[in-house]
Amino acid sequence: MKEYIGILGGGQLAKMLCESAKKIGYKTIVLDCDKDACGGKVATKHYADNYLDEKILKKICDESKVITYEFENIPVETIEYIEKNGNIPQGKRPIYISKNRIREKSEMKKLGIRIAEFVEVENKSHLIKGVRKLGYPLILKTCEEGYDGKGQWKINSIEDVDLIQLEEREYILEKKIDFQKEVSCMVIRGINGEIVTFPIGENIHKNGILNMTIVPARIDKELEEEIKYISKKIVEELNFYGPLGIEFFIKDNEIYFNEMAPRPHNSVHYTMDACNESQFDLHLNSLLGKSLEEPKLLKKVVMLNILGEDKEKVEKIKIDENIKIYLYGKSIWKTGRKMGHINFLGDNLEELIEKAKSF
Ligand code: ADP
Ligand code: MG
Repeated sequence: MKEYIGILGGGQLAKMLCESAKKIGYKTIVLDCDKDACGGKVATKHYADNYLDEKILKKICDESKVITYEFENIPVETIEYIEKNGNIPQGKRPIYISKNRIREKSEMKKLGIRIAEFVEVENKSHLIKGVRKLGYPLILKTCEEGYDGKGQWKINSIEDVDLIQLEEREYILEKKIDFQKEVSCMVIRGINGEIVTFPIGENIHKNGILNMTIVPARIDKELEEEIKYISKKIVEELNFYGPLGIEFFIKDNEIYFNEMAPRPHNSVHYTMDACNESQFDLHLNSLLGKSLEEPKLLKKVVMLNILGEDKEKVEKIKIDENIKIYLYGKSIWKTGRKMGHINFLGDNLEELIEKAKSF
């Protein structure tokens, strides 16, 4: 019997997926060439090999009931191999589309979903033309491999344009949206076609990195319903299976799609304590063909990320039944690196926000 769940990528998302798998009686295999990968430490088996090693991929295919991924930069060839030799219900399309900002935004355009105006940029002349077309303020981003605000430049004047040195790669130049709120929605589509959404989270970023997520988001009920509707529409129309974390901006009651990721999302870690089922539970259930129920929020919650620079604060924090702390087991505490998170639970949202802020 195939008793393993295979996970491509071995970071904290893999770790939390492994813990979820264990709860429902599955063993796990993590593939990540980093011997020190924190997901590998909790998996039943950790293959610290290359993503393109066919011998290892074959082994994973043979041993796993289902295979999934926890980050976007898995080589397409790896997934193609698994599609032929194993069971990877999500397939390569969600990664192919979401790992490239122009591709994902072009898909949204086709679906009629609002996005920031953008142009493609490959050289300085494109950039200058783009600036003329869109007008300031702007944000330039690398099309691929950017995360936590890395690979992004604010452009507010011609001096900023002059300072930018472009590499030989694709960029996207976006109009800056003067939003009032940033929110995210986790939508999960099962292989049986059922679609569920988690409560919307309101996200606060610091230096381009997610700092806290406030749930429920402080937005109108109608807006919340519309965000869920758009999220469901995206997975349905794109025919994706599994999880999709989608980030949106809200400006004057209008919803703008920002980006998406076909994996568990940092802003949805609050579900580990505040919902009847977590994003990791439903990620697995969706791919195992289990019936999905719309998750419920049991308590108000603020999720706070713990970064490398927070080590001393973590050592001093006093835990009680309404403060749940998760450390990912990464060995090096580096500034800006995500080391863990804390869920502050309670009934008074403003109090929870204050508690998180004073951490
Ligand atoms: P990353 O992959 O690094 O998370 P994002 O596209 O989400 O990249 O950008 C990081 C943050 O930068 C966003 O959460 C938002 O705060 C800000 N940002 C990105 N694009 C825009 C935009 N077009 N207008 C305004 N703010 C933006
Ligand atoms: Mg983002």
